[in-house]
Parts: sequence; C-alpha cells; structure tokens
Amino acid sequence: MPKRYFKKSNKTQRIAKARINLLFRLAKEHFREDSKLSDKYVKMARRIAMKHKIRMPSSLKKQFCKSCHRFLVPGANCRVRIHKHRIIYYCIGCKHFMRHPVK
Ligand SMILES: [Zn+2]
Repeated sequence: MPKRYFKKSNKTQRIAKARINLLFRLAKEHFREDSKLSDKYVKMARRIAMKHKIRMPSSLKKQFCKSCHRFLVPGANCRVRIHKHRIIYYCIGCKHFMRHPVK
C-alpha cells in the first residue's frame, strides 16, 4: 500500500510561518536578559517548521546552531569569519561549524 501523504493547507502554513518569525523576533529581544529563553524559542520554532513541513528561510537558518539548536548572536556566542568565498559561523557552545557559500 502506498504511503499516504497529507498536504498541509496553505492557511495553516501561513500561520506557522508567522509564528516562526515571531518566535525568532522574541528570541532576539530576550537574548540579553535570558539566553536560555531564546534557545527555547528556537526549539519551538523548529518544531513548528517540522510539523508543518516548512523550510526555514536562509536568513533564519543562520541565527541558530544546526547541532545544538542554540540561538546565535555574533560576538556573544558565535564567531563569524569569511574564508574561501564562504561565510563560516562557529558556535562557541558546541564548537560546530556552519559554512554558507557567498555568490
Ligand atoms: Zn552549537
């Protein structure tokens, strides 16, 4: 029997996208007071994206660590360098590298 695929409606996906943007905005606002709270917001946003099969926009992908899912702020818990036509994000918490090509 073929695997059933339930497509999520556009309306729920639109609401989920708005939620993700809101959660990232809140994470940015609360980072200075409580960084654990912003990590929690990132966790929630990731869960919403996975549930509704939404791809995270590339601007938001650079704001959290792919390995430990912490909210990254350059200068606070993340190092940003340019090397060989790539932007390299280095998470200080778990020592994970993320490389993004520059066009
Ligand atoms: Zn990390």
